[in-house]
Amino acid sequence: MALIVQKYGGTSVGDADRIRAVADRVAETYKAGNQVVVVVSAMGDSTDRLVELAAAVSGGRHPREMDMLLTAGERISMALLAMAIRDHGVEAMSLTGSQAGILTDTSHGEAKIRDIRAIRVREGLDLGRVVIVAGFQGVSPDTKEITTLGRGGSDATAVAMAAFLEADVCEIYTDVDGVFTADPRVVPESRKLDQISFEEMLELAAAGAGVLMMRSVEFARRVNVPLHVRSSFHGGEGTWVKENTMEDAAVTGVAHDLSEVKLMVQNVPDRPGVASALFAPLSDAGVNVDMIVQNTSHDGLTDISFTVAKADADQALALAEEAARDLGAGGVTLDGSIAKISVVGAGMRTHPGIAARMFGVLADAGINIAMISTSAIRVSCVVAGEEAERAVRLLHLAFDPPFEPTEEA
Ligand code: ADP
Ligand code: ASP
Ligand code: MG
Repeated sequence: MALIVQKYGGTSVGDADRIRAVADRVAETYKAGNQVVVVVSAMGDSTDRLVELAAAVSGGRHPREMDMLLTAGERISMALLAMAIRDHGVEAMSLTGSQAGILTDTSHGEAKIRDIRAIRVREGLDLGRVVIVAGFQGVSPDTKEITTLGRGGSDATAVAMAAFLEADVCEIYTDVDGVFTADPRVVPESRKLDQISFEEMLELAAAGAGVLMMRSVEFARRVNVPLHVRSSFHGGEGTWVKENTMEDAAVTGVAHDLSEVKLMVQNVPDRPGVASALFAPLSDAGVNVDMIVQNTSHDGLTDISFTVAKADADQALALAEEAARDLGAGGVTLDGSIAKISVVGAGMRTHPGIAARMFGVLADAGINIAMISTSAIRVSCVVAGEEAERAVRLLHLAFDPPFEPTEEA
């Protein structure tokens, strides 16, 4: 008997028929003699609808109430799925994140899982039940408040459950067949990868490949829980995300990210302490800065550009303007239409020239690069937002991932 954690994303439980289809699969897995824990997302795009509803009702920031609101989405799908599973003659029980022992820190909207005390999940399994856990939510033992784990957070719930229960497998069911060499909705000729290392998946997720939430991959790597990303529409094999894979392609995938904005602080005096004065307030406010570029200085003045999440744009702009005033710098401009395009591959370590080739492809297409950043296994370029899809397609065509260069290449 195996213990299987199955996570179903929003599309996979998008309507009554889809919920019944998921119930069929869960019941089948259970009747085959396995213990099954199911983690569910909210139905379809209902989380987005709730966010819109909140904005229509109030312009204020209400982090606690937002979490109360958004966690309702997963409560709906978990209860409906439990009912549909019971129709198969299988005992099923739904639990909120709090009931399932997902203990988090206090930060509303992007809480991190601190501990897992899935006692009630264990009890349910011991009683022979299928246990359904609401994804994306937990509770802070410090404040006793309900929290959410950030968008896409049901993936993290699934990994947490799998880790605590020492599950045999953690299956992430979604609306594509697995992890592809690029977003299959943008690059039709992208391919499904049979396997990918945690390291590469982490970089792809950080680069915008939304198929897995980045923090869930980080977590899975830390606790060494292999993930099987697969389609909820059919039973075919998906992609295994695990510690080590056989091949190290120079380019395993191409990703794009439209979720950031670029700020530029102009005419900053070029002297020690300036970067600290600009970025410390952002960090103190919990604003994550992704890329940073400082230009060469002219006449003792320089421009500093950086990117942050769209959601943090207003706050980052206000803080940067304040810092610019204190530093005697010029104004701050905000560009809301940018895209970060990345190529990722563990084989890059041993195959130089990938960055140069990427720049060449973009140059040939007349696509201007505004910023560049790299890690050992990733090269990212910021380009104009409207060029995102063309850039991804051209890079995919040029590198043909999973690309393993020959000696001459
Ligand atoms: P779920 O609701 O199941 O969590 P998501 O929408 O979060 O589903 O993630 C699946 C989506 O991720 C796909 O529909 C696809 O458009 C997108 N995606 C982006 N990059 C990739 C990639 N490299 N491989 C597969 N899917 C990707
Ligand atoms: N429902 C949440 C979201 O849309 C969590 C998830 O689906 O993973 O982000
Ligand atoms: Mg998701």
